[in-house]
Amino acid sequence: MLKITSIPAFENNYFWIIQPDPAQDTVFVVDPGAAQPVLDYLCTHQLKLGAILITHRHNDHIGGVNDLLTHYPVSVYGPRSDAIPQVTVYLGDNDHFELGELNFHVIAVPGHTWEHIAFYLPQQKTLFCGDALFAGGCGRRFDGTAEIMWDSLQKLAALPDDTRIYCAHEYTLSNLRFALAVEPDNADLQERLHHVEQLRANHQITLPSIILLEKRTNPFLRCQENGAKIFIKSQLGETPATAAEAFGALRAIKDTWPAR
Ligand SMILES: [Zn+2]
Repeated sequence: MLKITSIPAFENNYFWIIQPDPAQDTVFVVDPGAAQPVLDYLCTHQLKLGAILITHRHNDHIGGVNDLLTHYPVSVYGPRSDAIPQVTVYLGDNDHFELGELNFHVIAVPGHTWEHIAFYLPQQKTLFCGDALFAGGCGRRFDGTAEIMWDSLQKLAALPDDTRIYCAHEYTLSNLRFALAVEPDNADLQERLHHVEQLRANHQITLPSIILLEKRTNPFLRCQENGAKIFIKSQLGETPATAAEAFGALRAIKDTWPAR
């Protein structure tokens, strides 16, 4: 039975520990931005590291890799990028690999960065998507066009509705506050925001999310809806012609949104 544990780090990052079988002591880590919290976790729970998985090149996702490798000389699975020379197994769209009897499917999701990939476990309907898709939001667009990033998010939205989403940051509350500005009449969103406010008031994690909830409440997956178009017109004075254009406009508005 697969077990997934969060290691909170920095201000709002999560590193994810994947334990394929709780009866075994080998685990994998996704996006270790620092080594010490991972080493502490392994020591406390008497586990050993079997592999490192990387979604993209940003330092808060890879900063711990070198130190971890000095303790555990394991394979590093990730995209090809000059910024991640530690990667030993290069992965691209539609690649598959097995780790501890888990069958990982790779989905390329360029946009936040050009090399960004997501790791999907089809049997367990579990997704590790780094900074591509967040609960109630998405990563900033640093690389490529709005259309490219919109297409990436559509690939994730096409996963089964009950897919669990393990993203890399605790941004849910501020994301949902922006989402409510976009769609003030969305009842699913109002309910979700209320629930997340309660969780955060108690310092609880808001992850994992699930795909169905994101499709109902995440404005960056709802760019074809009228609510997004009306909001964009109110902000920019123009109605976007396509969903991808709406996505680009919405992402740009959020980049400078006062509530952030
Ligand atoms: Zn990033």
